[in-house]
Amino acid sequence: MNIILLGPPGAGKGTQAQRLVEGHGMRQLSTGDMLRAAVKAGTPVGLQAKAVMERGELVSDGIVSALIGEELDAMGADTGAIFDGYPRTAAQAESLDAILAERGRKLEHVIELDVDEDALVERITGRFTCAGCGKGYHDKFEQPRLAGTCDKCGGTEFKRRPDDNEETVRTRLAEYRAKTAPILPIYEERGIVSRVNGMADIDDVTRAIERILRS
Ligand code: ADP
Ligand code: ADP
Ligand code: ZN
Repeated sequence: MNIILLGPPGAGKGTQAQRLVEGHGMRQLSTGDMLRAAVKAGTPVGLQAKAVMERGELVSDGIVSALIGEELDAMGADTGAIFDGYPRTAAQAESLDAILAERGRKLEHVIELDVDEDALVERITGRFTCAGCGKGYHDKFEQPRLAGTCDKCGGTEFKRRPDDNEETVRTRLAEYRAKTAPILPIYEERGIVSRVNGMADIDDVTRAIERILRS
């Protein structure tokens, strides 16, 4: 099974993808995570992407589509893919069709996480992740069960993203509205879009997605 999680920054794509990975043995393909790894490693892609990401603008279509192709080739042909944060433009949606077709994969669901824009700034400015395993948390909405200790790996170091500040979030939201939201009709025409209320509790959102995957 191959699915896309679609929604603005802070909608809950990463949170839900991590849960699907645990529950279904699928693989999360997050272009944001791949780009951050490239920045950290100082690769040519990372050097090109760093400033663009800090401004909250979109990295070029060619770069992210190449990363997605490489990741798919590195995973088992039977392992399902959860696309998180990709595609983000019409050109990327077109590339994804070709990338999947070349590998004999079919896109089953596009799940749109529907959220109030007012809630997104609070979600993003309160977001942090475990430095050891990458599990996502939130200052108010999803704290570790034991303060300062990761539920998943026991790690005690956490990090915040440099682009998770109010100003950059506004740019990222504008990019989403201008370039990403307009790709939905491509998938609506194919009858594979489902909408989930992303304002519900994290567990309820997971349950709604599980229902869609079973359908
Ligand atoms: P969020 O999950 O908050 O929406 P991401 O981690 O997906 O953020 O993306 C962080 C940044 O990485 C984006 O603001 C953009 O600069 C870059 N990026 C990630 N994915 C893509 C993509 N598919 N196309 C272009 N840029 C991307
Ligand atoms: P995205 O990957 O779409 O940018 P995340 O999954 O990283 O979004 O979620 C952004 C922040 O909001 C995280 O700190 C996460 O813990 C929190 N969050 C995610 N889903 C919900 C929800 N349904 N209700 C409240 N907070 C949530
Ligand atoms: Zn951890």
